[in-house]
Amino acid sequence: MNARIAFVRHPEDLFWDGGRIRVVERYKTSGLSGDEWRFSYNVELLRKDVVVARTTVGSLEYAAATLASAIQLCLAELEQDSRWEVMPWETVPNEEVCCQPGCSNLSTRTYVMKKLFDRSCMFEKLNDANYAREFCDEHGQRGDCGLDDANANYVCVKGKDWDDALVDPDKVSESVFGVEKS
Ligand SMILES: [Zn+2]
Repeated sequence: MNARIAFVRHPEDLFWDGGRIRVVERYKTSGLSGDEWRFSYNVELLRKDVVVARTTVGSLEYAAATLASAIQLCLAELEQDSRWEVMPWETVPNEEVCCQPGCSNLSTRTYVMKKLFDRSCMFEKLNDANYAREFCDEHGQRGDCGLDDANANYVCVKGKDWDDALVDPDKVSESVFGVEKS
């Protein structure tokens, strides 16, 4: 295969897949006003278990509001905001990590996509690259529902194919008349 491979995020992969608030403690000393513990709050945005962006605020309530608004922003928008520390792009998990949203396993197989579909399931072809996704062994099975992320839309070009991958039985739940069981 000679054309370059361009990796495409899963439709449900919104880049950020986690966020958390951590208490930061500091023992303040002062000969004038006395000594005491002080607290601030780190707000962290994560992708695949790696902290990619971080800021510090003064209260838990403001930390929760900051997390809720920041998780709707993209990385480039946070880079423009001096209140945020954004990690170097090379440290952000991207290629070589499984494309299943939230999974941080290294990929073991590469599937080139036969067709690209947008969110309304319209077929779109952007250029002559080979669009692909990578998955780990746990997520190699993609199912037969839908158009974009389905076994029938993939051609395995590296590692084992989808028919070699079994889904963990603990993660299988049957739908009844189209209703998903929790
Ligand atoms: Zn995975």
